[in-house]
Amino acid sequence: MQEASAQLSVNPADLPSPPAAIARVVRLASDPEITSEKLGAVIASDPAFTAELLRTVNSPFYGLKQPVTAAARAVTVLGIRALRNLAICFAVRDSLRNSGLRAQDLEVFWEDCLRRAVAARTVARVSGVVPPEEAFTIGLLQDFGMLAMIKANRKDFTHWPRWRAMTPDERRVEERERYGVGHDGLARALGERWGLPRQLTDALAGHHDPASIAVGPVRELATLAQCADLVCTLLAVRSNEALSEVRAILKRAYKLNDAASDKVLEAIPAEVESAASALGMRVSRQPNFAAILAEANRTLVEMNVSYEELTQRLERLLMEKEMLMEQLAMANGELARLAFFDPLTGLCNRRHFDSLFRDLLTRASVDARPVSFVMVDLDRFKSVNDNYGHATGDAVLRAAAAALVGASHDADLKTRLGGEELAVVLPDTDAHQALAAAERFREAIARATVTTHQGPLRVTASFGVSTFVGSGSKVDLDRLATVLSEVADKALYESKNNGRNRVTIGGVVR
Ligand code: GH3
Ligand code: MG
Ligand code: MG
Repeated sequence: MQEASAQLSVNPADLPSPPAAIARVVRLASDPEITSEKLGAVIASDPAFTAELLRTVNSPFYGLKQPVTAAARAVTVLGIRALRNLAICFAVRDSLRNSGLRAQDLEVFWEDCLRRAVAARTVARVSGVVPPEEAFTIGLLQDFGMLAMIKANRKDFTHWPRWRAMTPDERRVEERERYGVGHDGLARALGERWGLPRQLTDALAGHHDPASIAVGPVRELATLAQCADLVCTLLAVRSNEALSEVRAILKRAYKLNDAASDKVLEAIPAEVESAASALGMRVSRQPNFAAILAEANRTLVEMNVSYEELTQRLERLLMEKEMLMEQLAMANGELARLAFFDPLTGLCNRRHFDSLFRDLLTRASVDARPVSFVMVDLDRFKSVNDNYGHATGDAVLRAAAAALVGASHDADLKTRLGGEELAVVLPDTDAHQALAAAERFREAIARATVTTHQGPLRVTASFGVSTFVGSGSKVDLDRLATVLSEVADKALYESKNNGRNRVTIGGVVR
């Protein structure tokens, strides 16, 4: 009831829908009448899915003795239920890839999803209460509702690192406070959207309170998910409390003693890496269990030191930490500047630009919004160098970049493409608005003045504009970036031919 009265800022419609081919397999595999032959035939008619399926099934993760070469055979070897779970797994991975998340956030989110999935499967294997494949799926999906929160609040979604360090229940409380709904609440909407079996959806929705579910398979699944959540927290924070909680739930739910629990935990990090590589995604190198234990034990040893000693040590550490943080912040700032920005103009460099540009294009395509790309080339710049010297040329470039920054919005992406070529990417801007913006840039550069020993110097620039309008469907990012750059380049060439110091609109790419 708490959910109904809170301010809802998250829309379940923001949850991704699964790719059509995968949705069909999930639906068919949930049909009790379906046979392996029939399902195999349907899969075989989709070459992309078949290829993906065979690649994954033959990866070391499945450990098959004989390679599988046909879809129908894969269905027989895996079984219909495991196949359905694998299809869900592909869908989760593809939705994440297309979610518009920044690469580093994507990797962290994916890593947590996989940790839960592998943890659930490993515990299921030992306890035998739930089919391991089903366990993997619930682990993978249990936090998927968070994607809707991220999507609805992309700008202020900065609390992730803090959320990762919380216990699952603490995080759920904060989700509800912030967004009016928890990821478990969104799970029902997700399950319905994806045509998931009822049992799985109910378990997802109840995984923070398995005790409230009637004894039976749904409750078993929910308990497993709760357990996977705690393991994931342990892998992220590596504290003694987290370790004790995991051991406690494994003892309570599955009667595993500490030694048996530790054996389960030991297997997880390597499995996470192999599951990631089977699915063609990256995760960071996983800490091995010995390291996790050592860190958790260190916190335990410290608890035994006398209170006074601890306070003194803490004060000292805090001071040291503050100094280190300061030094680190400075070093990081310097590193970021070198890695991401052009030293002459301060605009972002080509490599950094390429990745940010792709992020903006992905977002525009997913949200069906326009993006415009404005290419800028200084006019007769060579003659500035020839007549005033290279140092003045540099000063002119800096002044032109500063004029662009002054005339553009903060959200616009400004870069030095190379030499005296600059570019601005305007998110949420159609061709008509881009023309007005480029005119503003043109005037700003023409007004900029550099003082030289021969008096004040002004330059002009020519502009070419291209626009992409997203349609909500997937795009080939490399091709799109190339086409946008070609169209803008051609328009820029036209501006040069027509007398320079002007803007030419190139065209709209869909
Ligand atoms: P157009 O109007 O056709 O663009 O003529 P342009 O002279 O600007 O074009 P061109 O491509 O022939 O010359 C570009 C010049 O830009 C040549 C190069 O020496 C100069 N340049 C490129 N990078 C820098 C730089 O970092 N500093 C300085 N001072 N000059 C640069
Ligand atoms: Mg040039
Ligand atoms: Mg030029």
